[in-house]
Amino acid sequence: AILARDVRKSFGPVEVLRGISLQVEPGEVFGIIGPSGGGKSTFLRCLNSLERINDGDLYVNGEFVGYRLDKGSLRQLNDRELSAQRMRTGMVFQRFNLFGHMTALENVCCGPVVVKGLSREQAQKIGRELLNQVGLKGFYDRYPVQLSGGQQQRVAIARAIAMAPDILLFDEPTSALDPELVDEVLETIKTLARQGRTMVVVTHELAFARDVCDRVAFMEQGQLVECAPASELFGAPRMQRTRDFLQRLN
Ligand code: ATP
Ligand code: MG
Repeated sequence: AILARDVRKSFGPVEVLRGISLQVEPGEVFGIIGPSGGGKSTFLRCLNSLERINDGDLYVNGEFVGYRLDKGSLRQLNDRELSAQRMRTGMVFQRFNLFGHMTALENVCCGPVVVKGLSREQAQKIGRELLNQVGLKGFYDRYPVQLSGGQQQRVAIARAIAMAPDILLFDEPTSALDPELVDEVLETIKTLARQGRTMVVVTHELAFARDVCDRVAFMEQGQLVECAPASELFGAPRMQRTRDFLQRLN
């Protein structure tokens, strides 16, 4: 689960997250939509400890992100502690970020072997199962250049799951794909949603957000303008700014 209370993040003088408060329940699929530059990626990066928040509270599964309470005062986590924390959230980026010199299977296995200390055999067994799950049976030995964008993104999803994260974070996982490859990746994410995984999905695919997410937040200029069950946010948005955004896209 995720709990954010008045989370603030600045880059230099610019405040990019201006008081984000939300709660994501275990097993919930939470969507974030909104215009470019609104702070969606920054928020995901804070959840994944890639950025440190400046103010407010941010908890992932009860753990304060980026900080630890030590003898009554907060101290910043060191790099080792940060990477341990980062393992608990799996991130899938817009660009697939696969290791080009590794096969699909090696891409999925390397984290469990290097970070979690699994044997190669154990990791490969899990890796093959996960690649099967994302529809890539028989593609184990392909290198990224030998895969389509949609296939690469599905390897990236399998790689994120291989680390057994508590929460999966998706940052526009289909926006770098050719249109005909979008559906296969959305289907994969849908399947994960049905398995009861806790997920936060930033997406421009509004139909997907409406169909798959339990709740959806509209984020603009570093604030959550509105957060509601998906059918309400799309069917009967309460805020004018949400209506304006949805109308522009229709
Ligand atoms: P998009 O839909 O285009 O991906 P977004 O909602 O994900 O947009 P962010 O990438 O979070 O938006 O960016 C929010 C703001 O923070 C933007 O104005 C961006 O320029 C700024 N920003 C993001 N990262 C940095 C950084 N490392 N240093 C300075 N400014 C940054
Ligand atoms: Mg972004």
